[in-house]
Amino acid sequence: MGNYIRRYIVAPSVTREDVAELACSLRKGQKKTAVFTLCDLEGKRVRKSHARLAKELNVRIVEIDSGISSKLLIEAAENVLGQNTFLYREKDDEDLSICHPDALWLKNTFNSDGLSWLLDNFFDDDPPWKRENFYVLPGNPPETDCMLPIHANLLKPVKPGKLRACPVCNTLYMSKFPLAQCTNPECRFATRPFETAREAYRIVKTQVSDDGWGRCPRCQMGKTFAFRIEQCFDCGQLMKGYNDMIKVDLKDNQEQVSDFLNRVRRAQGNYWWKFW
Ligand SMILES: [Zn+2]
Ligand SMILES: [Zn+2]
Repeated sequence: MGNYIRRYIVAPSVTREDVAELACSLRKGQKKTAVFTLCDLEGKRVRKSHARLAKELNVRIVEIDSGISSKLLIEAAENVLGQNTFLYREKDDEDLSICHPDALWLKNTFNSDGLSWLLDNFFDDDPPWKRENFYVLPGNPPETDCMLPIHANLLKPVKPGKLRACPVCNTLYMSKFPLAQCTNPECRFATRPFETAREAYRIVKTQVSDDGWGRCPRCQMGKTFAFRIEQCFDCGQLMKGYNDMIKVDLKDNQEQVSDFLNRVRRAQGNYWWKFW
């Protein structure tokens, strides 16, 4: 999956609030997760001419990390953003190539011939986008802000040998092992759920570098922090980013997270926390 892109390219009329609304609408409408990364070049210093042109024309893209079908992603964007306000592109380096409505949309919308690299750039020439994430996390309470980087489904405690719901696609399956793989062939998400609520809701201090990069203490996967508290989307571990030596610019979300966790705990019926 090295050379794989999946993205919306959005017209200048689409706002970041529209992208947030799109994430919320997908959270309501189906069961799979997604992370949308809105990329723009505002305030960024760009040297290469293709990137300068994109900045000048206010081109923004939304990278999509998700198992949601392209059909549904296109339908949802048409409903929320409106017809003709976006191009949906999905491509790998083999046969897969979806371009909706078509490549002409780029030329017509931005009145330029110089943007076709957006349809297939594979990392080499990627401009230094400013990135902001929006999360489609079904299972979170419906009022949850889609900027909150925490997925309630990853916090449901399960003991080995008990029925578990895949946090990503919601398929129910059983495994006698702590670490197991989702039985849905299109998903195969491997997870090691927490066995108790006490473990699940524990926030572990995690050292991050000056650009916000840290490593999950539970499963060792890397993660770039934008907020003070983030969650590992591989294993569910809640992490509080810190660095005692240098100042790292992380948005403070501690109050929001603690409200969220209280609501989720109540909804999941884990009353142990009253005595904690
Ligand atoms: Zn699954
Ligand atoms: Zn992890």
